[in-house]
Amino acid sequence: MKFYTQILPIVLVTFCIFGYINYTPQNIKPSVVKSTQKIKEYKMKKSDKEWKEILNDEEYRVLINKGTERPGTGEYNIHMKEGVYNCKGCDNPLFTSDQKFESNCGWPSFDNAIKGSVEYKDDYSVGMVRVEILCTNCGGHLGHVFNDGPTESGKRYCVNSVSIDFKN
Ligand SMILES: [Zn+2]
Repeated sequence: MKFYTQILPIVLVTFCIFGYINYTPQNIKPSVVKSTQKIKEYKMKKSDKEWKEILNDEEYRVLINKGTERPGTGEYNIHMKEGVYNCKGCDNPLFTSDQKFESNCGWPSFDNAIKGSVEYKDDYSVGMVRVEILCTNCGGHLGHVFNDGPTESGKRYCVNSVSIDFKN
């Protein structure tokens, strides 16, 4: 009787545990999805409220909400003075007037950026494959870069005027 009352339950429980472990299909085990895209911490971090305090509605819409200003309307669309274009969000120098060229696309265009000032991100929004450009210091949206530039670099940095601030 001891076998049925004491040993058998232990044997059955042991079988159940091993059976469960051995027959648990791999695909029902929780899988850990590793994101390849790191969440970047920018040197200059601001809350939504703080951004709204330093940016006007249009600047906020473009820089923070990744909007686009209407073509041909930007302050620096036709602007060839000598100087530097800084980020409107954080004053980080982004482009020089030497890098600016007239592209007739409706937005200020540059054939290059100041080294290390701009970062690039794949952008699949609006049904297109584009490369977004952002300020490396604050993450502000600047525009997009295309491979159809007419100069040696072959690049056209298409930038919203409201994302930049000219300093001479
Ligand atoms: Zn910035």
